[in-house]
Amino acid sequence: MEIKIDKIIRTKRKTIALQITEDANLIVRAPYDVSEQTIKNVVIKHKDWIEKKKKKILSRDPKFVPKEFVNGEGFLYLGRYYKLVLVEKQNTPLVFDHHSFYLSKDYLPSARDVLIRWYKERAYEKISERVEWYAKKRGFVYNKINITDAKQRWGSCSPKNNLNFSWRLIMAPLPVIDYVVVHELVHLEEKNHSKFFWIKVKMLMPDYEKHDDWLKRNGHLLRI
Ligand SMILES: [Zn+2]
Repeated sequence: MEIKIDKIIRTKRKTIALQITEDANLIVRAPYDVSEQTIKNVVIKHKDWIEKKKKKILSRDPKFVPKEFVNGEGFLYLGRYYKLVLVEKQNTPLVFDHHSFYLSKDYLPSARDVLIRWYKERAYEKISERVEWYAKKRGFVYNKINITDAKQRWGSCSPKNNLNFSWRLIMAPLPVIDYVVVHELVHLEEKNHSKFFWIKVKMLMPDYEKHDDWLKRNGHLLRI
């Protein structure tokens, strides 16, 4: 049986890599000089893995429902859903009062951008505060904090000791955010996922596995 390849991305890389996206699409990353037939062969060879992964994503519960930006629709913030209320006139495009999100109707055409901007600002504030708290507690030294658009990579630690976090994390409960913060801070000292790395994570957060698991089960919901 033929397997549909949704997208082929050619770059300067040396090997072929397969990726199943959050929407269960198959993306193939390949070097420039590899033929379509070679790509097809690699896909066929990994047929079982692809089908298993797609099935897992499609049967996920609860499913992500694409946002429509209508009255009453729920938007996540720190692990809780808050209702969207469309209003006629207000001074800023978006207001949040820990009860609802109030979006000015004038901004409906760019509702997604307005909300993402708000999430990014909250993410930077909250994540900086948590990083600082844990860094002080354990004497971690980092360079700076960046907020990224990454869809699945919740955090990363660069060789220059910059800490990167996806804005989507601000939609998760605070203990989950703390887990990603601790995870990246420990990477300042342990660059890979060695036994020592996990021991250090556990010392700072004894129940980290619970939060890691939460992200694996619910990470697909952290988007708009
Ligand atoms: Zn890691």
